[in-house]
Amino acid sequence: MINIIKNLYKGEKTSDDEIKYILESDDGSVDQLLMRYGSETAGKYYGKKVFLRGLIEFTNYCRNNCYYCGIRRDNLHAERYRLSKREILSCCKNGYDLGFRTFVLQGGEDNHYSDDMICSIVSAIKEKFEDCAVTLSIGEKNYESYKAYFDAGADRYLLRHETANADHYGRLHPKNMNSENRKKCLYNLKNIGYQVGCGIMVGSPYQTMDNIIEDLHFMQELRPDMIGIGPFIPHRDTPFGDKKKGSVRLTLRLISVLRLMFRDVLIPATTALGTLEQSGREKGILYGANVVMPNISPVYARERYTLYDNKIYSGRESIEGIGELKKSIAKIGYEAVTDRGDRAGFFSGEKY
Ligand code: SAM
Repeated sequence: MINIIKNLYKGEKTSDDEIKYILESDDGSVDQLLMRYGSETAGKYYGKKVFLRGLIEFTNYCRNNCYYCGIRRDNLHAERYRLSKREILSCCKNGYDLGFRTFVLQGGEDNHYSDDMICSIVSAIKEKFEDCAVTLSIGEKNYESYKAYFDAGADRYLLRHETANADHYGRLHPKNMNSENRKKCLYNLKNIGYQVGCGIMVGSPYQTMDNIIEDLHFMQELRPDMIGIGPFIPHRDTPFGDKKKGSVRLTLRLISVLRLMFRDVLIPATTALGTLEQSGREKGILYGANVVMPNISPVYARERYTLYDNKIYSGRESIEGIGELKKSIAKIGYEAVTDRGDRAGFFSGEKY
């Protein structure tokens, strides 16, 4: 087992069965080794830095009906909200004053925001906060829309592919959505020039270990700049309300495997990880994650952006708790920094 992990670390070829073996093993020393090599690899590219990004959840309206998601269209219990351009800029100002140099605008697929509106929000942020990067995470759009946002100044785009397997995708989403289009969107984003993030929920209903291996293959083909993974957590008002939550241990192991396979890729320690375990995010960093995205949305919005039950949105998770977050990151030997934090090899075109 140590040889498999060392081979991954050295960039030597490993088989699917070997990766499965590491992910599934009952042997606790796997975790120690993954942690050691995962953090060592992250350190080669980023030292002990963890990048903080300001997350603005600007709308919880969504035209989609994903079976797992608390803001799905048919959840009539969701209290809907939208932030105006002025509110979004005010969040950025608060974040900027605290040092944030990346803003992540995430939301449901909300047609209220036309392409022109998104472009005007993006260009206003870039104008007012020149040294900042803007990341969008607003779902599936056509090539022209993505291009318009990019031309308006957007730098990065997060779109989890959710699962690379078409059948599995079909079990998580209604018939009007498909994995082919999701993947096409990711390739379009990449061709346009965005720094692109894909990812999955670990332990989503019906997911098999083979699906996860397929996800790794897809990522090897796409070569993303960011990979966001977090455990699936049920939301009571969704069709998956009674499904089992994902495993923290498997999520941590996968973070490390991703770090070893994709070297300088940006990997967030996600909110879902911190929701299932109080020190989940810190553990994520110790396994090789190097991004944390505190919530800088207004409190009323945070309370309503409930993708899953008990989603955390205060304390270390929020703009108010930034000092506490920095301390908890320092306590594990890392430094929380607010610079733009692009993927190490992105601008030099370096490949992993
Ligand atoms: N609409 C955009 C999109 O589709 O990419 C961004 C918002 S969407 C709510 C962001 C991510 O939340 C999804 O990609 C999904 O992986 C995650 N998510 C949704 N419901 C979840 C749940 N119940 N447990 C864990 N993660 C969830």
